Amino acid sequence: MRKILVSQCLYGGRAVRYDGADIPATDPRFLRWKEEGRMVPICPEVSGGLPTPRPEAQRVGERVLTKDGKDVTRAYAAGAAEARRLAREHAVAFAILKQGSPSCGSKYIHDGTFGGAKKEGRGLTAEYLQEAGFIVFGEEDMDEAERLLAALD
Ligand code: SF4
Repeated sequence: MRKILVSQCLYGGRAVRYDGADIPATDPRFLRWKEEGRMVPICPEVSGGLPTPRPEAQRVGERVLTKDGKDVTRAYAAGAAEARRLAREHAVAFAILKQGSPSCGSKYIHDGTFGGAKKEGRGLTAEYLQEAGFIVFGEEDMDEAERLLAALD
């Protein structure tokens, strides 16, 4: 049975988001895979040593900065490396990560201006995983994830 790396905030059960919340996925396929024990949850930002709650941060070029300009790239990179390590250890079929996050976003992220706008782009963890050859889906991509899992299982 192939495993799936997932964002801890989608998996639920632990408040890991920067705002102190979680945002558990409700798609029945996600819940079934969770029930089957396939999922390997990780919050890269917490794994990278950041507290919850924590200041909002966004990707600005190659760096990750908080709104007041603190460079937190090192912690985000450490979390991304840990996610990649876990993905390799469990030989996951793919990852399902929270869209829009400066760590987990795979299609779009905030634009680095802290004004609420988004742009095409990916978070640091999605980037590390994709560059290591893993497929990264967002929580809106369950149809594709289901098809791929059926082909791989
Ligand atoms: S880093 Fe990823 S797993 Fe952690 S709270 Fe943000 S989106 Fe969720």
